[in-house]
Amino acid sequence: MNESDGDLRADCGACAGLCCVALPFAASADFAEDKPAGRPCRHLTADHRCGIHDRLRDSGYQGCAVFDCYGAGQRVTARPGLVPGAAMFEVFRVTRQLHELLWYLAEAAERAEPAEPSALYAEIDALVAGDAGTLVATDVDALRARVGPVLERAAARVHAGAGAGDGRDLRGADLVGARMRGARLRGARLRGALLIAADLRGADLRTADLLGADLRDTDLRGADLSGCLFLTQPQLEAARGDTATVLPSRLSRPAHWPAAHPGGAHGGAGHMAGPSAGKATPRGRAKGYRPGKRSGDGSGGRRGRERYEGRRKGTGGGPGAGRGGENRNRGTDRRPDDRG
Ligand code: SF4
Repeated sequence: MNESDGDLRADCGACAGLCCVALPFAASADFAEDKPAGRPCRHLTADHRCGIHDRLRDSGYQGCAVFDCYGAGQRVTARPGLVPGAAMFEVFRVTRQLHELLWYLAEAAERAEPAEPSALYAEIDALVAGDAGTLVATDVDALRARVGPVLERAAARVHAGAGAGDGRDLRGADLVGARMRGARLRGARLRGALLIAADLRGADLRTADLLGADLRDTDLRGADLSGCLFLTQPQLEAARGDTATVLPSRLSRPAHWPAAHPGGAHGGAGHMAGPSAGKATPRGRAKGYRPGKRSGDGSGGRRGRERYEGRRKGTGGGPGAGRGGENRNRGTDRRPDDRG
C-alpha cells in the first residue's frame, strides 16, 4: 500500500461491518446501549450495512457517527485466509490502530521532509500486510513511541517553513469550556489539549498541531483550520462547525454542520479588541476562561468536565485514550505522543 489517502479512508461498502461487530461500546451519551466485543450490533443488516446510518446521531449513536477505521475494515475483510470470527476481529483491532499511525505518517511525509516518515510508513505497512499472528502480537505502544518523535519533527519543519506565528505551547492543556473566540493560535502546539466544548469561533488555528486534541463539542464555527497538522476526520465529526469553517484540504466538512450565519458574526481574530484579545496562555487558560461561570457556584467547569469524562469509554487509559472524538470502547486507543 502506498501513502495515498485513498487507502486510509473507510470504504464501508467493501467491509464486512467489522467495526459494528468486533468493537465493544457502552451505554452512554454516545451509545444507546451496551454491546460486547464480537457481538453484531442489532442495527447491522444482513448485507453488512448500518440500518440507522442516516439517523445515527438522532438515535443515540453519536459514537458511531464520529468513528473512523482509516481503511482498516476493507483491508482486513480482503485478507485471504480470514473469516469473520475472533481471529479476524483481533486482526482488525490491531490493523485499525496501525492504520491510524499510517494516516499521520502519510501526512508527515506529504507536509515535510518525507524520508523519515516514509520509511516508518513502509515498515508499519509491511507489518499490516504480513503474517496475521505476527501482526496481532505487535507492540503497538512501542510503534507509537517511535511515530511520535517523527511527527514532532515534521511539525517543527512545517512551522519553521511557514513562519507560523509564535507556536504557543499548549500541549495537553486543560481548556475545557474555555472562551477563546477569535483566539490567535496560528502554529500553536495543541497536542492532546482538552478543548471540549471550548469556544473557538472565528479562531485562527492555521497550521496548529492538533494531534489527539479532544474536540468534542468544540465550537469551530468560522474558525480557520487551514494547514492544521494531524487533525483527523473523527475530531472534526465530534466538533461543531459550519460552512464558514476553513478546513485542511485533506479533510471533509461534516455533513451535519450547518450553513454559516448570513452575517458571519463569529468574531474572527481580526475583530477582537486589544492586543491580547483571544489569547490563550501557556498555562492552559484562555483569556476570559472562567470555570464555573455558567452555574455561578464555581462548579460549572468541573461539571462540564465530568459530563464528558462520563462519555469517555474504554479501559486502556493513558495518553489520548478515547480522545479526538473517537468514543468507542476500544480499550487501547492512543495516539503518538499526544501528551494527553
Ligand atoms: S449503530 Fe453503529 S455499530 Fe450499529 S450498525 Fe450502525 S454504525 Fe454499526
